[in-house]
Amino acid sequence: MLSQKVSDKQLQYDAILIGAGIMSATLALLMTEVLPEVNILILEKLESPAKESTGVFNNAGTGHAANCELNYTPMDHKGNINVEKALVINNSFERSLQLWASLYEEGKIDISKFLKFVPHISFVTGNENVEYLIKRHSILSELPEFQDMELSNSYKEISSWAPLITKERDMGERISATRIKRGTDINFEALTNEYLSYIEAEKNVHIKFQTEVINLRRSGKDLWEIDFKENGLESSLVTKYIFLGAGGLTINLLQKSKIPESKLYGGFPVSGKWLVCDKPALTSQHNAKVYGKADIGSPPMSVPHLDTRWVDGKKFLLFGPFAGFTTKFLKESSYFDLFSSFKKENISSIFDVGLKNTDLIGYLFKQSVQNHNARMDTLMRIMPSANAKDWQLNNAGQRVQIIKKNKSGGVLKFGTELVNSADGSLSALLGASPGASTAVSIMLKVLESSIIFKEKGLQSDKNIYRIIFKDNFPEQPSNSNAIKSRNNNILGFQT
Ligand SMILES: Cc1cc2nc3c(=O)[nH]c(=O)nc-3n(C[C@H](O)[C@H](O)[C@H](O)COP(=O)(O)OP(=O)(O)OC[C@H]3O[C@@H](n4cnc5c(N)ncnc54)[C@H](O)[C@@H]3O)c2cc1C
Repeated sequence: MLSQKVSDKQLQYDAILIGAGIMSATLALLMTEVLPEVNILILEKLESPAKESTGVFNNAGTGHAANCELNYTPMDHKGNINVEKALVINNSFERSLQLWASLYEEGKIDISKFLKFVPHISFVTGNENVEYLIKRHSILSELPEFQDMELSNSYKEISSWAPLITKERDMGERISATRIKRGTDINFEALTNEYLSYIEAEKNVHIKFQTEVINLRRSGKDLWEIDFKENGLESSLVTKYIFLGAGGLTINLLQKSKIPESKLYGGFPVSGKWLVCDKPALTSQHNAKVYGKADIGSPPMSVPHLDTRWVDGKKFLLFGPFAGFTTKFLKESSYFDLFSSFKKENISSIFDVGLKNTDLIGYLFKQSVQNHNARMDTLMRIMPSANAKDWQLNNAGQRVQIIKKNKSGGVLKFGTELVNSADGSLSALLGASPGASTAVSIMLKVLESSIIFKEKGLQSDKNIYRIIFKDNFPEQPSNSNAIKSRNNNILGFQT
């Protein structure tokens, strides 16, 4: 049946956000906290929010604060450890905590739905890795952000922190661990639902589900027109501002916008899988997120970790991620995603990145063809007593890594990148890591660069922090003791 085309240009929204994952939900919340009069439409192609990367079993739920992730503190060939990235991520996460504390204090969200306190541990074996961890600890524990980091090289003590990682381990092997007790496990799907329930009830925010955006274009000088499909019917709407929060598919929508900035980008999908265990005999023995060290040659997001996960009051263990390859950009999308993102402007950078990263392609191929026993062998490096029958394989979310054009061809990036049109009428978020944990800081940048914000004559000054974060200490950075202890008190951290 041919779909009907309905044009409804009278119905205008100040802002249309595409995708109902954690990013759009955070942006809608921040925007309406600062500007309650703004009216926003969120368009989501699935039947409910947060079912792609934000979905509870599609990500690891780590509140990334750089407490335990060794890839945020790389060591160069001279043995120097760079902590810059760890500090940025730690500060960004503290901002997220600060927002949740303020919203919770005002009764706007319920933290018990999404936030659990789970210690963060780094764990390594072998002389070289142990020396690295000791050095990393000596540098980080000098900084206020990580001053509570504990170090242990003792089997007995590490066993008291996380018994499953020492049980049945060869005692002849040198091991080392660090721990920060003030760690978190977060259900980002539940958090997204908390944000959306609050703003749908209290603000001018409307969400349309089962509505897929199929095209967007400039409409006159100041507006955008968006075409979407709802129940087989095509319609279009105009708006002043668009945020592309379509997860992996953001790249394809960005290309449709035809803004000059879009021509710099391509995407490379990496899928993931977890081993999951729900046996109470095992889940009751582990209360930590234990991050190991990635294999040489593997991409940074493949750091193996054994996680405590809380989902709707039930405790799980999760281990992974194991990487894989598909040409889809989301779990619920098309195998043509990758091919349709090839454009004459980005094809040379995509091929250049392909040629420069043959080791990554080989790694992904090897990971994709692994069987259950091979995956169990990897798990047993961190949990030697693991038994194959206790663990099941689950699919994780899709990550689309950024390929960016540069002078030498192209570069593959593993972080996130914000793309803004020059006039502030469109923003897009590409990439996936550290992702959901830092959504507040990233979306604050999106808000501040948006035309909506600029039109109101607002500036990214201390007042904004006062409004959004109920920040009584606007002159202090988010990791200051005053802000941290307020977060601890309101959220209930036992430190
Ligand atoms: C394996 C894995 C592990 C991770 N672990 C962590 C972690 O431990 N901690 C952490 O902080 N982050 C983690 N992340 C990253 C985090 O999950 C993501 O950064 C975050 O969920 C991205 O949110 P989003 O809103 O941008 O995208 P998504 O959650 O993917 O949402 C995009 C939405 O857009 C919709 N959509 C797409 N196209 C259209 C269209 N054309 N029209 C309408 N709707 C559309 C989709 O249906 C979807 O609902 C992990 C990610 C993966 C994949």
